[in-house]
Amino acid sequence: MNLIRNQEQGLIGIIIVLIIVGLLSGGLYYYLQRQSAKTTEVEKPIEEEIVKSEEPTQEEKEGEITTEEELSCQNDCSQADAKRCSGSGYQACGNYDDDECLEWSSITSCSTNTVCQNGICIQQKCSDGTLYSQCSTTKPLYCGNGQLINSCDKCGCSSGKNCQVGGSCVSSNCKIIKYSGNPEDKLDIIFVPDESYEDMSKFLSDAKKHIDEAGVNNGLLAFEPFKSNQNKINFYWLDKKFNTNELDTKLINIYLTPKTGEPDPVRSLCPEAEQIIIIKNSAEWAGWARVFSGLTITTNNPLLTVHEFAHAFGDLQDEYFGDPHPESNDIFPYSVSSFEKKINVNCFPAPSKEYCLENAPWKDIIDNLIVSCFEGCNYFIHGIYRPTESSIMSLKTAFGAGGTSEINLSFGPVNERELLKELNEYK
Ligand SMILES: [Zn+2]
Repeated sequence: MNLIRNQEQGLIGIIIVLIIVGLLSGGLYYYLQRQSAKTTEVEKPIEEEIVKSEEPTQEEKEGEITTEEELSCQNDCSQADAKRCSGSGYQACGNYDDDECLEWSSITSCSTNTVCQNGICIQQKCSDGTLYSQCSTTKPLYCGNGQLINSCDKCGCSSGKNCQVGGSCVSSNCKIIKYSGNPEDKLDIIFVPDESYEDMSKFLSDAKKHIDEAGVNNGLLAFEPFKSNQNKINFYWLDKKFNTNELDTKLINIYLTPKTGEPDPVRSLCPEAEQIIIIKNSAEWAGWARVFSGLTITTNNPLLTVHEFAHAFGDLQDEYFGDPHPESNDIFPYSVSSFEKKINVNCFPAPSKEYCLENAPWKDIIDNLIVSCFEGCNYFIHGIYRPTESSIMSLKTAFGAGGTSEINLSFGPVNERELLKELNEYK
């Protein structure tokens, strides 16, 4: 009985031991399983990386292709249909090639007389608003390449004006003798007949001698600086006579004191006229002009006209002196400053020749041969000096006064320089 019980107890003990061992080994297995799973999780990303680099999935392959396209294709412009100027035309933003990006189109040229601004071709205009290649409302201006140019052959003239070679218009009352170009650029001289002319064809013939294009009549273009600058001068004549004997005073008032409001009898007909030369049909030496007056009254003697015109056009004084002028024997009162200022261009008041040589306005071109200081000028014999021995401003034979003879007939270097200053105001 005891033996059996002992055997039974031993068996039970073995079973218990086996159960414990089983439990322990089961728990260990479970534990190890868990540890193994943790290790796999940690290492998995590394495995994936390796797999990825060696053998990409289809999805990954597509992703990589997309990335490559973005690198080879960039938008050159941001917005479709946007435009920009380029060269003489414009470009539009759009997709013009195989890729999906936007790029600028080839250049579309702007049509004639339009120009690209902010991507749009717009009509070009001249300063007065006239479109390119069209006539301005101000005749005869034409808008060509952005410049308003006189073009009466295309655009015509306003009423009362005639179209001239070169495209400018001239008032029909300014009858052309010798035309050089646009009156706005040129010195415009008009010859006007005195009533003493019965025959207008005689007057016109005389006026041409005073202009003297051939240089054979001692007229204007026979002498420098007019000779070399005749392309800066337009010559006209007026087909209307004036009675200078009656009108002398009135004309002088009109041209010297324009504030009186008297209508300008010549320029109201020929507004282009800057210098007016009225010729009397007489050969006597009796002319009139005052510096910068714009008016010369002369007789039918071309050389007298040249002399008088030099007064009216420039700042030149008479260089002759002595009889019949009342001041003939006087010493010029060079201390009178106002008078001094008026006449110091070609007549220089000075107490001595030495003082003149050092202080005259022409001292820079004194050569002591042709240009020097010669005593006697502006009707006075003493105390005032002229730049050359003789000149057109000092003619003795012409004016019957003390002065010089006609030898070396010219204005001389000093007067030429003064007249040239005026001519250089013109083109
Ligand atoms: Zn004079």
